[in-house]
Amino acid sequence: MNIPFVNLKRQHFYLQAALNQAFKQVLESGQVMGGEVVKTFEKSFASYIGTQYGIACGNCTDALEIIMRAMEIGPGDEVLVPANGWLSAAEVTLMLGARPVFVDTHPFYYTMDPERLEEKISHRTKAVVPIHLYGLAAPMPDITRIAQKHGLQVIEDCAQAHGATVQYKRVGGYGHAAAFSFYPTKNLGALGDGGMVVTNDVELAEKVRMIANHGQQEKNKHVCQGRNSRIDTLQAAILQIKLPFLEQWNARRRSIASIYLNSWKDLDIQLPATSAGSTHIYHLFVIQTGYRDQLARFLEGEGITTEIHYPQALPEMPLFKHLNLDTDDCPVAIGQAAKLLSIPLYPELTDQEVEYVAGRVRAGIRKVY
Ligand SMILES: *Cc1c(COP(=O)(O)O)cnc(C)c1O
Repeated sequence: MNIPFVNLKRQHFYLQAALNQAFKQVLESGQVMGGEVVKTFEKSFASYIGTQYGIACGNCTDALEIIMRAMEIGPGDEVLVPANGWLSAAEVTLMLGARPVFVDTHPFYYTMDPERLEEKISHRTKAVVPIHLYGLAAPMPDITRIAQKHGLQVIEDCAQAHGATVQYKRVGGYGHAAAFSFYPTKNLGALGDGGMVVTNDVELAEKVRMIANHGQQEKNKHVCQGRNSRIDTLQAAILQIKLPFLEQWNARRRSIASIYLNSWKDLDIQLPATSAGSTHIYHLFVIQTGYRDQLARFLEGEGITTEIHYPQALPEMPLFKHLNLDTDDCPVAIGQAAKLLSIPLYPELTDQEVEYVAGRVRAGIRKVY
């Protein structure tokens, strides 16, 4: 059996008729940027998350940058980011002339460890950016409490967590603002790039919209330094079609995850854990084993492609070298990087394929240990 790490072709096949309809609509309307389709998707997505405002933009990295610009984060400021995860938040922090400060991650949940957060706060700290990594919510009640105490802005990176909840509330509704990605492989993905800022703060929403549109308050009235970041009408139309499927796709991801968890619970590997009060939506199914590379090689031989998220903790990346970070500073994230392995998990896997993966991983662990 051959199980690629992702397989977008299947989703496209299931939605073919609806997607073709979206193409047709956009082609016939002649409107390929902005318009009602984009506005409707902004409203639908914000309402799904449970926030007042949604502002579509080019991608999640842009969304994070635009939020930080709107919050006037810049030289002299520090931004707290988790030590394990995708680099966008740390990257845009640098781009704005501010300093990313890495907070170690939880050994089992992989998200920012609130116990390690407060020690990293200084008089320069302006914001904290929790990442809801792999589809599990970061501990938002703790993070927002600490942020409030120190007067910090909270920006959620929700790129891997469309529909994940903590205490019955969807992530994206906890921070002052949140950034989503619609990159094709995310739980809700376009057929190209796309992103969105969501917030309940009307002033922030207006500023974000302005910055994403060349600082224009109204046509030809440029009142602040902005940039250009937008979603195509076609991508918005496609996302509007896919949004109603998100809950069932996430449920299917959870049911595949429960099969994996059950099949491997007696093996000597670290399985994904779900913190109390959270719903994991398994954007990725990440295990830890000291025999990571051997297991990955075995699975490749069995036709199963795995990946690593992420092979290097952020503080160790050459990109951040000039910050002269203390290398002993984030031992959990740095120590884990050599053990993490992502096993294929997506809604379109058949039951037979799920059973195959479950069996092959068991066999692999027995073989390589
Ligand atoms: C994918 C991802 C991003 C970046 O999203 P883009 O839309 O590609 O810019 C940011 N943060 C996390 C955690 C991601 O997984």
